[in-house]
Amino acid sequence: MEIKKELLKLLFDFHGHKCWASVLGLRAGLIALRELKTQRTGTRSLYCLIEVGHAHGAVCFADGVQVATGCSIGKGNLIKTLKGKLAFTLIDIKNWKEIRIAYNGKLKDKIANTAFMKKRAAGIPPTEIPDEEAMEVINIVLEAPEDKIFFINPVKDTNFEPPEEILGSTICDICGEWVSIPYIRILGEKKVCIDCAGYTEGFEK
Ligand SMILES: [Zn+2]
Ligand SMILES: [Zn+2]
Repeated sequence: MEIKKELLKLLFDFHGHKCWASVLGLRAGLIALRELKTQRTGTRSLYCLIEVGHAHGAVCFADGVQVATGCSIGKGNLIKTLKGKLAFTLIDIKNWKEIRIAYNGKLKDKIANTAFMKKRAAGIPPTEIPDEEAMEVINIVLEAPEDKIFFINPVKDTNFEPPEEILGSTICDICGEWVSIPYIRILGEKKVCIDCAGYTEGFEK
């Protein structure tokens, strides 16, 4: 798969450094769009259930998926399912077509043997690794045949229901900050934000 230079630049500018995992996500995202016969979204016509966790190796994958598909934290159509996998399901809610793509780890040893990963393992941040060493490992990801590194499977049964957008907002009676209506809590006579409510657990959203 040929990935346009401008798209890689957009990814690296957004992500903040050059790395193989973000490019793996970009590639996977582009494959998903192709399989669903759709384009990067500027709205919520697509949803992405992404399986990465909060902080682990190669979580950079998620930024590649965001740049490719347009599913993002800010649009509310990128939902983390926290399984610690480099995988996601992309859902076209107009045509109800879904595809799941998962990395199979087959490049693990090849990637681990690069200068980039040896430096990462030694604790050197990716922003301090020379471009040519980053590109060596990125090219491993770009050149691998997609059917050798990804499981690509249509999905029929996620039973996904897109969350409804709730537009209302109010001001917390205690701290004076803007709060979306479903996050308001009642404290005596006051309508307050979660921080000011004083609870530490038990919130679903
Ligand atoms: Zn990265
Ligand atoms: Zn408050």
